[in-house]
Amino acid sequence: MPTHGIDPFTAWLAVLAEESELQLDPAGLSPDALAWLRDVRDGHGEVPPPYLAELVLARRTAVAAAALARLRPVVERETGLPLDLWLEVEQASEYDPIGSARLFGEHVRSPELEDARVTVAEAVQTYLASRHRVVWPVCPDHRTGLHADLTDGRAAWHCRPGGHHLPMP
Ligand SMILES: [Zn+2]
Repeated sequence: MPTHGIDPFTAWLAVLAEESELQLDPAGLSPDALAWLRDVRDGHGEVPPPYLAELVLARRTAVAAAALARLRPVVERETGLPLDLWLEVEQASEYDPIGSARLFGEHVRSPELEDARVTVAEAVQTYLASRHRVVWPVCPDHRTGLHADLTDGRAAWHCRPGGHHLPMP
């Protein structure tokens, strides 16, 4: 890819975008994720993709932890159940070149907080359903379970029967 006339940061992003498993498509990154990559470049230089995996995993772990910390008190208050649920992080190995951050079997693969909020919400729902036989959250108008999705770049609750969204706290 020609890099003349492109600033070095943008050129580096184009290199990273070639590594699909890193999930760092520059066109789709939020300002927050771009700021994180700028910090990575400022702090570590232009880390080649194979060596970036550890930093990407640290970012995934951080957004997953932030998402869980935000949802945990809401779930515990609304369900009255203790959320015995913790992130599992495995460093990269020869079998798993990028490592993984998982919550109840759900992999957090994105460096984006809002994506992680959707994944963490789904993991929490699976946990509540399988461990406690609880459907949470429920639409107050339609009395059916809500599904986490990404709406206009934000994590939200989708009520399928009602065709509407509710904000995710
Ligand atoms: Zn509804």
